[in-house]
Amino acid sequence: MRSDDDRGFESDHLPMEFDLPVDISETTFPDIYVGLNIGLLAPGDGIITDRHHASADRYEADDPMNQIAGQISPFTLSGWLRHGCERVHHIAGVTACHPGEPNADFKLKDVYDRDLAAGYHEKGSCDPDRRDGESKFPMPTSTCVVYDLFGGFGHQAGKLIRRPIGFSPIRRHVDVLKGEAEAHYRQLNTHVRSRNEADEGQPLRHATQDAVGNLDGTWRLTLRELRPEYVGLICEAVCYLKSNNDTYSMQLGGSRNFGAGIVHANVINPLYSDAEVRRVYNRAQGPTQSMEKKDELWREGLRDSFVEALQHRLSNEDGELGESLETRSASKENSGGDSK
Ligand SMILES: [Zn+2]
Repeated sequence: MRSDDDRGFESDHLPMEFDLPVDISETTFPDIYVGLNIGLLAPGDGIITDRHHASADRYEADDPMNQIAGQISPFTLSGWLRHGCERVHHIAGVTACHPGEPNADFKLKDVYDRDLAAGYHEKGSCDPDRRDGESKFPMPTSTCVVYDLFGGFGHQAGKLIRRPIGFSPIRRHVDVLKGEAEAHYRQLNTHVRSRNEADEGQPLRHATQDAVGNLDGTWRLTLRELRPEYVGLICEAVCYLKSNNDTYSMQLGGSRNFGAGIVHANVINPLYSDAEVRRVYNRAQGPTQSMEKKDELWREGLRDSFVEALQHRLSNEDGELGESLETRSASKENSGGDSK
């Protein structure tokens, strides 16, 4: 079936037993497929097209007959997923690594300190090996799971490989096992017109934007190291992103005011075989009995044990999860902000 990599999940660091009830070679691990369905995506420079289908002199950007394929950069996608992962930490009452270096050239002066007060710690400061000196903000007791997955500084690679999504407008060219999607690329042209009557609606400015529409497919993530809490965090983050998908800050890419980047995302059952993952995207076929059985196994138990592993990582020594950082800061505001 898949690779011979039959290393199981590491769980010695957790105060719980973790057993995968099936042979790992029969699952998608170490890959995790996130199913994405996006009406419109406009990630700025984050689209790389492959235009060799038409020679340069015959190419017309707005010709819908152009069958343009390409890639969606993982940078935008990674930031979106990371955002969800940070929120899961905040809900559990713990801070997460800030995505930026403390000495980065931020556009706003006190932005880093404000972020640190709002649920973040300095990037990498949760790693005991990197800690130097004191911080005026509370320090986490162990590395945050965001640090594990997304990495910190040069020497600390993230445990999660975020690949680009390959896309094509032609469904039969799309291989969802490679993390590909059916999607339609267009270059959108906008004119900002003069509001002054004397100008008779003359365009003042012309802007071109790359966008993909009707995206349907998978994003392939790969774990470099198999720890159950990593899977738990990805499941919880995707769930959070899905249920808050029209919240401005949880949308993906640009043009959010225009409804771009509203993502319907779900983790595809890791117990599925290759053929079953493909079948999810075959409109002519519904789920098989075997798939339904695996869904039951996933929903009623296995997913929870991954999340339980995450809760152990996010809880204090007594195994308690903290009060949500968001509720905490909201109640602080309501009580008149007596701090500082
Ligand atoms: Zn951290």
